[in-house]
Amino acid sequence: MWDFFFNKPANSEPIASVPVHPITRAMLEEAPDGSLYRLGHSTILLKLRGGWWITDPVFCERASPVQFAGPRRFHAPPIAIDELPPLDGVILSHDHYDHLDYRAVRQLAGKSKVFLTTLGVGDRLIGWGVPADKVLQYGWWQDVEINGLRFTATPAQHFSGRGLRDGNRTLWASWVIEDGDQRIFFSGDSGYFPGFAEIGKHFGPFDLTLMETGAYNEHWPYVHMHPEQTMQAHQDLLGRWLLPIHNGTFNLSMHPWWDPFERIVQLGRERAVPVATPMMGERFSLQAPHTGSRWWQDMMVAQDAAPDVALARH
Ligand code: ZN
Ligand code: ZN
Repeated sequence: MWDFFFNKPANSEPIASVPVHPITRAMLEEAPDGSLYRLGHSTILLKLRGGWWITDPVFCERASPVQFAGPRRFHAPPIAIDELPPLDGVILSHDHYDHLDYRAVRQLAGKSKVFLTTLGVGDRLIGWGVPADKVLQYGWWQDVEINGLRFTATPAQHFSGRGLRDGNRTLWASWVIEDGDQRIFFSGDSGYFPGFAEIGKHFGPFDLTLMETGAYNEHWPYVHMHPEQTMQAHQDLLGRWLLPIHNGTFNLSMHPWWDPFERIVQLGRERAVPVATPMMGERFSLQAPHTGSRWWQDMMVAQDAAPDVALARH
């Protein structure tokens, strides 16, 4: 813990802001079904059957109980909540600060038709002022059909809590999203565990997996995945395209900030798995998937050459 707070390597944060493709309301209104935008960390905006869905919406400056301390964003969100079109639903994996943003939830309460959450997290939302009839909470393997889409809360190996006395009182989960025979997996946060193979058996193959890789550390191997485990989990799930999340936005571990991207792309090459790394805010199409550019590499080379200037933006 001492190292985590006081001896963070300089390269665990970028020297300059991570580049962002700004998104406008008009762009979203014109976007075809199957459009997907990474807004940061584990926040994914997704258009299915004409409706918009968002996973783990975090728009705040710091993933922390307070806004004067704690991990600060590497980039601004590509679009503000006010600019977002009305949403069919918010999908929440668990209640950690880098996944559940109080102010975002309050702002989305009027904008989103439903909040799909895990057991206990829904009670938090109601306590925060989200109308109870919009809150749907599930245990693992429970599902709901909305507007022709099926959402299933599936297992994850993680933990929960936002304070000192609420550890593991609410559930954590991953989510399976089915649109006819098109299937998407959203990992939430998880360590590597046999649940991925089980989910793959029930729901695979997946057209796209949104997989956490980032914030890993040898001291907490059971609650987050190293890139090799992320790749294995993707294969256990019978995934086709892999889009790595939980990286590039907050400094939550000791590794260089580009490490998750570099390693997962390398593993993709070795195992012939297509890995998509869209820039924050760049459109990714489920109908015509593309790897996107490896946008972090120039920043990585520049920062490696000048390690001392890291953290200068603070
Ligand atoms: Zn977490
Ligand atoms: Zn997390």
